[in-house]
Amino acid sequence: MEQTLSIIKPDAAAKNVIGKIIDRFESNNLKIAAIKKLKLSEEDAGKFYAVHKERPFFKDLVKFMTSGAVVVMVLEGENAVAKNRELMGATNPKEAKKGTIRADFAESIDANAVHGSDSLENAAIEIAFFFSKRELA
Ligand code: ADP
Ligand code: MG
Repeated sequence: MEQTLSIIKPDAAAKNVIGKIIDRFESNNLKIAAIKKLKLSEEDAGKFYAVHKERPFFKDLVKFMTSGAVVVMVLEGENAVAKNRELMGATNPKEAKKGTIRADFAESIDANAVHGSDSLENAAIEIAFFFSKRELA
């Protein structure tokens, strides 16, 4: 059993498709182990995406991620990290496979509907960034 972090980004939350995206996870044997809706501060977003600090899109990414509310979730299940990435589709929705979340709900590489941890190691770091022990019980 694995856990991974998922974020429904401001574009998807604003489009009123939170439930539709959560249904993709639940329909594919991923359980919502923890969940909350919140608005990231600039500091939060900068810390969360610190690995991308030197990338040319970093500033825009922080601006976008703080532009509205997000839904942060811990998904749990067999191969949760890889399964979530598969359900999400490619970073650029134009390259995302048909039927993936990004193909169906995202507009652009900036506003691409969802985040998902890219490894088990990063999943643990990202889960701890957002959730306390009590929330994960
Ligand atoms: P993923 O979210 O698929 O793991 P990355 O970790 O590479 O993708 O990038 C983090 C986020 O930064 C992406 O989801 C996207 O919102 C943004 N991003 C990545 N590459 C670009 C780019 N070339 N131009 C604009 N935004 C980008
Ligand atoms: Mg990533």
